[in-house]
Amino acid sequence: MKLFPLFADLQDRHVLVVGGGNVAARKAQSLLEAGAQVAVGAPALDTALAELAAAGRLTHLRGSFEPAWLDGAWLVIAATDDRAVNAAVHAAAQARQVFCNVVDDPQLSSFQVPSIVDRSPLMVAISSSGVAPVLARRLRERIEALLDHALGPLAELAARYRTRIRSALPELGARRRFYDWLLDGPVASLLRSRQADAAEAILNQALAQPQVSSAGRVVLVGAGPGDPGLLTLKALRALNEADVILYDRLVSQAVLSLARRDAERIEVGKRLGENHEATQARIHALMAEHARAGQHVVRLKGGDAFIFGRGGEELEYLREQDVPYEVVPGITAALACAAYAGIPLTHRDHAQSVRLVTAHCREDEDALDWDGLARGQQTLAFYMGVKQLDLLSQRLIAHGRAAGTPVALVENGSRPEQRVISGTLGELPALAQRHSVQAPALLIVGEVAGLARTLHWYGRHLTAEG
Ligand code: SAH
Repeated sequence: MKLFPLFADLQDRHVLVVGGGNVAARKAQSLLEAGAQVAVGAPALDTALAELAAAGRLTHLRGSFEPAWLDGAWLVIAATDDRAVNAAVHAAAQARQVFCNVVDDPQLSSFQVPSIVDRSPLMVAISSSGVAPVLARRLRERIEALLDHALGPLAELAARYRTRIRSALPELGARRRFYDWLLDGPVASLLRSRQADAAEAILNQALAQPQVSSAGRVVLVGAGPGDPGLLTLKALRALNEADVILYDRLVSQAVLSLARRDAERIEVGKRLGENHEATQARIHALMAEHARAGQHVVRLKGGDAFIFGRGGEELEYLREQDVPYEVVPGITAALACAAYAGIPLTHRDHAQSVRLVTAHCREDEDALDWDGLARGQQTLAFYMGVKQLDLLSQRLIAHGRAAGTPVALVENGSRPEQRVISGTLGELPALAQRHSVQAPALLIVGEVAGLARTLHWYGRHLTAEG
């Protein structure tokens, strides 16, 4: 170990910053946040520093560096662009045994300022011992993404209740299990949902009867259309914390591979010969069963769980069963397919509204307002099986949408094998057949669909001509 890590308490301690530019300003700002008494030494100060000095938040030592500036200082940071000045600061600090950091110069520094992830009171500091700051910053971004913002309030709550928890649970093993429950269970979940009062109420309740109920929960997560880059940070965190993942067939392998290694993965798509209701009942039972066993269940669905995903029914069931839940939205197929095909769903000249439609086109189930759908100046995004294309095109034309209206079929949107097929409403069935379009595919109908011809940028683009 080249450097010894430590967290310094700078409250009311004198710290010197040498330099008057924006780097110095950034350093001064974070020192002030830590409660330090900051003096900034420089011939002149940039606006940000000058404002802080005028407001009395820091002292300005005007002029060129002199060793006497170090009197009474616990630390010094040199942030000038003049190496000779930086070296002089380093030498003077060395002589007085004051810790010195020269920005971006490990050789002249006796301490390094780490990259941090701040979930105060919880703090993660990362150092590359001054040799690879870019790497440290990368790592910081990753950790930043993984730690959710409820961690700070959670740590603060745990600190406030520490004595009470200790006296309610004097035995160490039981106390550990209680802390696990506190960090993983409904309290953390409520804090993430910004319900601090309810979180504290549950904590109090649990302390009154401290045999921990192993409360699991379900997070309904939208996995997006396939490209793992389209997951939200929250989705990624949920996948990292999951014990069990119940996923649909539509969820991509690339997304699943981001989940915690030891999480149990269960595919819950429709089985051969099973009807939708039986599938849904099986999913409900699995969610409840695992959550009751104290596990973190992620219910992972393609796109967004609330867009043609039966997410509503699943929540209704969980609510009925008193299983706590959270919802993480995902990027729905229409948004992703449009973006990855270069089709703006609305456009000042062509479409003032968008409709997300699921089309069955079967006589008995067809409750769609075809007259409304056939109207112009709007974009339609159809979520459907490929078999429906024929009827869909016929109905829209029969109800008045022009056969020449541009359409785009987006197959495997956002995935490496994505294909976009451009044509018109009239030629749609022939087009789909000619290019043997496979599920999952999304159909976009409306003038904007024509823009894919010029704006497409991802994967393959095909037309009636070839
Ligand atoms: N909840 C999902 C939709 C489920 S319905 C969402 O929000 O996206 C399933 C239909 O979505 C498929 O039949 C197809 O029309 C569409 N779909 C889902 N993922 C897709 C993808 N990657 N590319 C094209 N269409 C997709």
